[in-house]
Amino acid sequence: MPGLEVERRRLVEALKAMGFIRSPKVERAMLAVPRELFVPSEYRAMAYDDRPLPIGHGQTISAPSVVARMTELLDPDVGDRVLEVGTGSGYQAAVLAEIVAPTGAPRESWGHVWSIERIPELAEWARGNLERAGYSDRVTVVVGDGSLGLPEHAPYDGIMVTAAAPSVPPPLLEQLRVGGRLVAPIGDRWAQRLVVVEKTPQGVRVSEDIDVVFVPLVGRYGWSD
Ligand code: SAM
Repeated sequence: MPGLEVERRRLVEALKAMGFIRSPKVERAMLAVPRELFVPSEYRAMAYDDRPLPIGHGQTISAPSVVARMTELLDPDVGDRVLEVGTGSGYQAAVLAEIVAPTGAPRESWGHVWSIERIPELAEWARGNLERAGYSDRVTVVVGDGSLGLPEHAPYDGIMVTAAAPSVPPPLLEQLRVGGRLVAPIGDRWAQRLVVVEKTPQGVRVSEDIDVVFVPLVGRYGWSD
């Protein structure tokens, strides 16, 4: 859609001015990934408003400021293996992929993103979005209960949970490598705080960031519906 690159750049500049984007790698990734390909067609004109948008099935694509903040907190690097819980539209997964496997970088240097979604129809839609945006070889979308993680590809350098959990699901901590980092919205069903967990040889180091509102993580280590 003509003109959206200008809007994308304007949004990125605003997110930088507000402090949500701090690093060149997150700036580059958010400039590279076309968010308009990850929102339902009727919301395309709002793709560069800093707000969450409905994606069907009662779910949302997160606001760009929250995507930026969570990506900064996770701080992934080229070559990392990252797990995302809650694929939704696939947009956050694409932003992560653009950092761990940058477009144009040698493929030998590429890391990978695995993303789990519990709603099969959303997983299928996200796969299509990722394909059209050019990320299908860097992101693998799996259907399942992401509160159990994805043990077959563990350990991960980074794990990002993009649905609200009552506490950090123990399987995710087990699947994080020592030195790795997990970012998740933790709290009750209606309000949460972003929590960063670093896995150290001695145990874990936990810190808290901004208040957020996410749809619930529904699963064994989340909510029941
Ligand atoms: N990261 C997404 C994006 O970029 O569009 C937005 C995620 S949306 C706020 C939360 C998603 O988590 C929803 O699609 C929801 O179906 C999914 N979800 C909730 N519980 C889940 C679980 N246990 N395992 C996997 N996905 C889950």
